[in-house]
Amino acid sequence: MYREYSSVEFENKYTYEGKDLGATWSRESTFFRLWAPTAQDVEICLYRSGTQGQEDLIDRLPMTPDQNGTWVATASGDLNGVYYTYLVDVDGAIMEACDPYAVTTGVNGNRAMVCDLKSTDPDGWDQDRTPVVSDSYSDYVICELHVRDLSSLASSKIRSRGKFLGLTETNEKLKTGQPTGITHLKNLGVTHIHLMPVYDYGSVDEATPGKEYNWGYDPVNFNVPEGTYSTNPYDGFTRVREMKQMVHSLHQNGLGVILDVVYNHVYHTFEFSMNQIVPGYFSRENEAGILSNGSCCGNDTASERSMVRKYIVDSVNYWADEYHVDGFRFDLVGLLDVFTIQEIISSVRKKHPHVMFYGEGWNLNTQVTKPDLPLAVQGNAWMIPEFAFFNDTMRDTMRGSVFDYHLPGFISGAPVSKEHLLKCFQGRMDWSCMPNQIVNYVSCHDNHTLHDRIAEALPHAEEAEIARRSRLAAAFTLLSTGIPFFLAGEEMLRTKKTRLGKYVGNSYRSPDHINGIKWNRLKEPEVQETVRYYQGLLSLRKQHPLFRMTNPDEVRRRITLLSGTPEGITAFVLTGESETIIVAFNPGTASSNLSLPEGKWGVFVENNRASDDVLFSVSGEAAVDGLSAFIAILKK
Ligand code: CA
Repeated sequence: MYREYSSVEFENKYTYEGKDLGATWSRESTFFRLWAPTAQDVEICLYRSGTQGQEDLIDRLPMTPDQNGTWVATASGDLNGVYYTYLVDVDGAIMEACDPYAVTTGVNGNRAMVCDLKSTDPDGWDQDRTPVVSDSYSDYVICELHVRDLSSLASSKIRSRGKFLGLTETNEKLKTGQPTGITHLKNLGVTHIHLMPVYDYGSVDEATPGKEYNWGYDPVNFNVPEGTYSTNPYDGFTRVREMKQMVHSLHQNGLGVILDVVYNHVYHTFEFSMNQIVPGYFSRENEAGILSNGSCCGNDTASERSMVRKYIVDSVNYWADEYHVDGFRFDLVGLLDVFTIQEIISSVRKKHPHVMFYGEGWNLNTQVTKPDLPLAVQGNAWMIPEFAFFNDTMRDTMRGSVFDYHLPGFISGAPVSKEHLLKCFQGRMDWSCMPNQIVNYVSCHDNHTLHDRIAEALPHAEEAEIARRSRLAAAFTLLSTGIPFFLAGEEMLRTKKTRLGKYVGNSYRSPDHINGIKWNRLKEPEVQETVRYYQGLLSLRKQHPLFRMTNPDEVRRRITLLSGTPEGITAFVLTGESETIIVAFNPGTASSNLSLPEGKWGVFVENNRASDDVLFSVSGEAAVDGLSAFIAILKK
């Protein structure tokens, strides 16, 4: 039905390239531009409030057709804080739609708001800069966090429970002294906080925030902060100001901010603003007029259409410019086309050279509307060298198959060849050997937490054993070549357990008592030990460039298998100019002796300890305890 949208004729006639879509505010007047090439008539409704259904219309302004299928109108006077919608007539069907380019909205994102964005800047925003700068993604350490999970439980001691502002409370601690919240994550040594969706999503009613829970992979307004994370979802200024406050505070604490962006689909296909204004334009459909559904969420974004591509490129640039965002994680990026990603990276990097990009490059069954279009899947990694991908090979090798959560992985006793482990440690995947393209992880929001995945594979394992196996996974993953990534709380042996004792593998709408980070766990010795272990590993990684190499040839040359290791032990030698590092893994339960090459070796990781300081020295033979990693360094 809508195939003509992808035709050359349509695109030539109706591609608008200007930068002024949406509402452009000034004290004297506000200028509106909307792209609606198939509309016969468009009006703007101005409202006093942002609440749909509220009968507080101020005025209706006609729009006039302008270039490339856009419509324009100018409203005189200061409209800062005035809400608006578009009334669009397409072939007699009248739709009242939010502005796809809305920068903020009222409750539940139904009405856009004209906004003087400068007035939402927190103190010091002019001086706000990204605190983490490197030319290599491998220098970064990413921690994934859901805004609400950080502070939804009382044990966080955070007052702004479940809100953006909860991330600005950095002095909270348990009675026993352990810091909670962002300070805890900062102390681990992470460089970037990757926030799960914080744009306006639809699955939680903003009128009753705190009642329902959702991860938020159901976009409604792509350029608007989610209302349930603000202290007043009815007021369009508040969500913008508080999200900026959060970013500013994270920056002041030395942490970069990454947004999880879900451009691959929308919440309800035909309720999405652009699909209301230009019927079906945003979403892919096949020859028969059936919606493509590679996302398994009901629709796939037609990123190949010129005005969808522009919309996504503009949106990412907007978050980087206006909110000082330091990185973007693209959900199901395999549904978007390579050219869109290339354009995003080049346009953002022009102004912000250190912004990072990565995503889920899985192959999905989508119906692109233009033939032979390359998609941003792992196999096309070579086409987007500044874009990194989640390394599912590392994940599945370590913890076991993602498709059968009872199967063990390397850390839970499955046999894995040393050659395969070497490839994992070297970041040498079938789809890329570039370390800066490989995001190494053993847990993220999807599927079981690391703790729970081990417990599913080994139902008789006691907590102490699960902790040992978790640390083994961390040592391998966080020290491997590539970009280390983990789910917040992995270092606290995070568990998502129901009251009946079942582990939840897909907690996208589970209540807070399942999803919330249980800070009281920091009182348990096993957890404290594991937190210190993560700190030690990340510090070690930071201090030894051999763990952060970026040239694949150098990686192959410098990282090799240590020969002559006993059965069951896999060990690598990292050979540098000034030091040699031996990294050994023992996934068996019994201790084993490793013969070290000649010299006096400093041990940095052994049993349940990891440190950037030498723990003790050893020559000749060293014991590698069961279910643990061992790292020794010889200075030249
Ligand atoms: Ca919302």
